[in-house]
Amino acid sequence: MIKFLDLQSQYNGLRGEIDAAIAGVIRDASFIGGPSVKEFEAAFATYQRAPHCVGVGNGTDALEIALEALELPPGSDILVPAFTFVATAEAVTRAGHRVVFADVDPSTYLLTPETLAAALTPRTRAIMVVHLYGQPCDMEALTRFAVAHDLRIIEDCAQAHGAESHGRRVGTIGEVGTFSFYPGKNLGAYGDGGAVVTGSEALARRIRMIANHGRVEKYDHVFEGRCSRLDALQAAILRVKLAHLEGWVERRRTVAELYRAGLAGVGDLVLPVEAKGARHVYHLFVVRTARREGLQRHLKASGVETGIHYPIALPKLQAYAHLGMAKAPFVAHRIDGEVLSLPMGEHLTDKEVESVVLAVRGYFSASR
Ligand SMILES: *Cc1c(COP(=O)(O)O)cnc(C)c1O
Repeated sequence: MIKFLDLQSQYNGLRGEIDAAIAGVIRDASFIGGPSVKEFEAAFATYQRAPHCVGVGNGTDALEIALEALELPPGSDILVPAFTFVATAEAVTRAGHRVVFADVDPSTYLLTPETLAAALTPRTRAIMVVHLYGQPCDMEALTRFAVAHDLRIIEDCAQAHGAESHGRRVGTIGEVGTFSFYPGKNLGAYGDGGAVVTGSEALARRIRMIANHGRVEKYDHVFEGRCSRLDALQAAILRVKLAHLEGWVERRRTVAELYRAGLAGVGDLVLPVEAKGARHVYHLFVVRTARREGLQRHLKASGVETGIHYPIALPKLQAYAHLGMAKAPFVAHRIDGEVLSLPMGEHLTDKEVESVVLAVRGYFSASR
């Protein structure tokens, strides 16, 4: 069986360090805040080359808190890619704004100035930029668009720890960036976790206050916030794993090259591209084919786990039926029926990658 994701094998390789980190938090009974959260925030800020990092409860809260901290006029239109995980759009509504879907590019699956321009409304105030699958958007182009139309940029980096656009790490190219440490992400906790990064000290302070009941010290609540903190045990685990992240990213990039070499020109497969100026971190390796269901069945029978990210573009979800965009002529509405995620991660050996390649090739040569 070739696993899509293998968190057990990752733990087995780090068991001593992880167990010691967990034991340390319990020994000190510093469960909320404390040194493990502070140290992780500082280390993650350094890794992302971000001036400020605030740990929060999860990646969805991170998006919502980041948006709230921008203090946009209530009911603003916010551009959201039609093809992403639902949390990106949920945060907009939860923060009191209106979701306006923009289409994605058919080769990168990302927002572009062209897709944004087609969706722009007079009340648009911000863009939720999603670095989907670990591929960074072209932030130079998107920044130019945002400046021209006076829009703020929130970067959803939940799938893109360590990704770079034109040599800059994602997260602080826009005004604020959000991360998820959901277990299956490239940097994953042993439960929920998230973070917000920003270059602005004032924004960082506001984000920290929103996430912690609107306060600075213990009982001086300046406004009503909420409770969304990065758990100290998770921070201790993440601190251990962060030291290995660069190596894991490099391995993912190597696996992607092996897939690309092995799968070029096979059937009607469309392979992921690495856009110019982009450092893709391959959270997912997503191929496209008109014969997805057959390929997925064949791979399952061959012992290869796969996933679909995502089977229904957001405008078609019942949750967004009220927007009336389900029939918009979007690329997103076609590719959701074609995308298939192959196993990806540092757990894969060259031999396993080769087996996946052979299984995929086998499907297309047998059923031509
Ligand atoms: C995982 C993910 C989120 C949400 O993160 P959680 O930690 O699960 O709340 C948001 N946006 C994208 C693009 C994601 O992949």
